[in-house]
Amino acid sequence: MAKESTLVGLRRYAGVKTILLQNSPETLFKPQLLERTFMLVLLPMFAAACVIMSLVSIFMENATWFERWQLIPTAVVFLGLLVWAIKCRPGCTRYVRLATLFVGATVVMERMFLGMWLTYRYGLEPDYISGMVPWAILGACLFVFMLYRRSLVAGFAYYAAGAVGILVFLAVNPHPLPAALEQDLTINYLVATPVFLVMMAGFSRLRLAYGTALTKAEDFESMAMQDQLTGLFNRRAFSASMRRARARQARKGTAVSVIMCDIDHFKRINDTYGHETGDKVLIELSQILSNTMRRTDDVFRWGGEEFLILMEETNLKQACEVAERLRALVEESKILRSGLTASFGVTELVRGEDDTDFFNRVDLALYDAKEHGRNMVVMRRRVKPTADPRVGPIAELIESPDFTVS
Ligand code: GH3
Ligand code: MG
Ligand code: MG
Repeated sequence: MAKESTLVGLRRYAGVKTILLQNSPETLFKPQLLERTFMLVLLPMFAAACVIMSLVSIFMENATWFERWQLIPTAVVFLGLLVWAIKCRPGCTRYVRLATLFVGATVVMERMFLGMWLTYRYGLEPDYISGMVPWAILGACLFVFMLYRRSLVAGFAYYAAGAVGILVFLAVNPHPLPAALEQDLTINYLVATPVFLVMMAGFSRLRLAYGTALTKAEDFESMAMQDQLTGLFNRRAFSASMRRARARQARKGTAVSVIMCDIDHFKRINDTYGHETGDKVLIELSQILSNTMRRTDDVFRWGGEEFLILMEETNLKQACEVAERLRALVEESKILRSGLTASFGVTELVRGEDDTDFFNRVDLALYDAKEHGRNMVVMRRRVKPTADPRVGPIAELIESPDFTVS
């Protein structure tokens, strides 16, 4: 069995985006994908906010050193983080998140302390302190929001640093502050922020718990539908695909066909080369199947060395062509030095027929292929029941010379 997991493909299954990993039960990277999307939205917004704030305050002529010189470089840093978020592997997005958090929080803190320092040093200019408290609150909330695990501690540490700064400032500031500003610093920051933080932390925890539960549920759902060895869908996943194919057939009248594939003399391969080689053959064959099929086709591991391919918008003739292509690919493949072949049965779904008839027919077609010498494609078409009671509704066997290779 291959030791390392390899990415087989990205599929959307029953509305769930699933990364199919070969030989790996850890099939999903969904949290990272979500986090990445989150960062791709957030970072341009941060960068734009910095630029807008800088330009507006310069235009309004109330820019401090911070707005004039600090915000545009910060925007550039955020854009750099955006490039990082785009380029890095999904698993590394959390580093981008942490870096974003520290850049954002540092900038906010810097603005707050700068405002207090300027006021202390040069007396009150409304521009020094205005807007600083909402930003500081936002900074604290960011911590809670972005540092999932130690969010509350980090948020409160951030808040405490701001609170100590404000208390020291209020104690030593020689310039009288307007009541509204004092209220902003005391009531809004010192009193309201912790309440806000606890609310955010609660919300964040709930969201995390909900997200984890959802991801786990989807994980289990996806694992339950996925074959561990090959990463293909398993039999259980088939009914949802079949339902979808039937619905589309009913709505659009499009053809639905199925190919059943079974490796020839697989038992002999196991006996000769061992079970591990047998597994490798299954994996490589499944790769041939999934790489050859269109994204809209679903490939299932039906049983031991049996595979099933469900194709929408494909009629019997087209399905036979696909099966023949697959047959040739398997035969030409270098999976085994001694050569490998597989047999294929093909049939088309007739509108309204039940699953059992459909499967029995494709199963019979495969059986015919085995009976007639293996390494071939055999198709079966459903024959309409006739009025003549002497002729039963038996399936017609068609061995098309076009598709029969001995
Ligand atoms: P035929 O050409 O008629 O299909 O013959 P066959 O030997 O391929 O068919 P048979 O059904 O007799 O044997 C299938 C074998 O597949 C038996 C079983 O041990 C093996 N098998 C089933 N699942 C696995 C698996 O996951 N790994 C391996 N290595 N072998 C498996
Ligand atoms: Mg077999
Ligand atoms: Mg078999």
